[in-house]
Amino acid sequence: MSLVIRVREGEKAKALARLIKHKAPILTCTGCGNRDFALIEEPDLGYRTNIERSRIYARSDDKPFWDDDSPSAVQQLLVTLLCTTCGYVEQFSEAVLNGAMPTAYGVDVDE
Ligand SMILES: [Zn+2]
Repeated sequence: MSLVIRVREGEKAKALARLIKHKAPILTCTGCGNRDFALIEEPDLGYRTNIERSRIYARSDDKPFWDDDSPSAVQQLLVTLLCTTCGYVEQFSEAVLNGAMPTAYGVDVDE
């Protein structure tokens, strides 16, 4: 069964789908083993999925757990696929699909 990534329209959406086919050619649904997915991104219309990390404030004195110079919020674009059989959601980092180096994310925890 070959990998199918369905897109409604748009050249940018097609480019994202082709990028996943190129970088993850053995992609199979974790839930059911299907290989037919729908890309829900609509970059040509300006709609994207992104993950946003924010500082958390969980102490009673309402101060952050840590006090460093990191930005208060960090965003990263994701490419979201839905399995068309069972609905399981798969996500990819667009930065990695576009060639971000592993070292951009730090070093191994045991190094
Ligand atoms: Zn599935």
